[in-house]
Amino acid sequence: MTTRVDSPSLELSRVDRAEVAEYASLYDKPLLELGALANERARREAPDGVVSYIVDRNINYTNVCVTDCSFCAFYRRPGHEDGYVLSNEQIGAKIEEAKGIGAVQILMQGGHNPYLKLDYYTGLLDYIKTYHPIHVHGFSASELDIIARVHKLDVSVVIDELKDAGLDSVPGAGAEILVDDVRDRIAKKKIGTARWLEIHRAVHERGLLSSATMMFGAGESREDRIEHMIRIRDLQADTRGFTAFIPWTLQADGTGMDGTPETTAAEYLRTVAISRIVLDNVRNLQVSYVTQGPKIAQVALHFGCNDFGSLMMEENVVSATGTDFIMPRSTLVRFIEEAGFRAVARYQDYSPVDPELDWYCGCAVCLQRSRA
Ligand code: SF4
Repeated sequence: MTTRVDSPSLELSRVDRAEVAEYASLYDKPLLELGALANERARREAPDGVVSYIVDRNINYTNVCVTDCSFCAFYRRPGHEDGYVLSNEQIGAKIEEAKGIGAVQILMQGGHNPYLKLDYYTGLLDYIKTYHPIHVHGFSASELDIIARVHKLDVSVVIDELKDAGLDSVPGAGAEILVDDVRDRIAKKKIGTARWLEIHRAVHERGLLSSATMMFGAGESREDRIEHMIRIRDLQADTRGFTAFIPWTLQADGTGMDGTPETTAAEYLRTVAISRIVLDNVRNLQVSYVTQGPKIAQVALHFGCNDFGSLMMEENVVSATGTDFIMPRSTLVRFIEEAGFRAVARYQDYSPVDPELDWYCGCAVCLQRSRA
């Protein structure tokens, strides 16, 4: 059993090392053979040749953060002249711009800003649902954790409060690699593996869906990545609350990890393919064109991925490292179609967008209206 200082009462179950070794041995398969194996699994899930994508906007409500992750070029320490907190009105204006291009969701994430209290978050959600209703996919596990710690509240209470105020689903960020030895090296002040899993379990038990990410290429072993996948798979077996798995690679330029050898395209493709095989109970696997570029993303669609991710109007976190592959909808659709698939816009829960329902985005307000 392992424990960690930020979650002393939490214990992690042991992962079966033989299973880890067996999955890690898939890395030795010829690349195209591994891709074919993963693709066969993916097409079982999506037999009609569909690749989905979502139109949304990333809104980073604050860049003030006290967590100092060594791979992050986005945050500013409290008191820094470039630190910001967006006002409700600024966020509302960004939502209206996004709706103008057909957005059905905002992805709202920010730094760990201890000066923001729970009423900032509930007030913001209430404002959005009142004046600019849209699906809010927001506040990753480590953000939920800092709100809970600031108020000395159980994280379940925080989730309930945010859900009541309008939170619709939770992004899977902050997972990096769910192995504490790795986390201690790259994000020492961030929540540990057990806490990340505990919070996603609580999110699912409160009726909200979430996604799961994995940031790799940070010096972890292949076995560490497999352990990460197994932990997601095992939680999913209990809760069925993960909609998707989103593996992406470290972008180290301009961060404290500058100089880390870049993950090759072949290693990226092997890793997404193995994700598809290990995570046989998570339906959707997303490419990361934001970090890999759209051409490798097209290839990943033949290595087990069935989702192209977000058509983002705005992205501030990865682009802070100098990586920027934002593109218009027509270009994104062309990349999917030229890879041999039918592009379908989706909501956050992966159901297809109904073009007749231009007011609908799948949020709690829409669901209530559609049932009236
Ligand atoms: S990754 Fe998130 S938690 Fe870590 S320093 Fe950046 S903003 Fe803060």
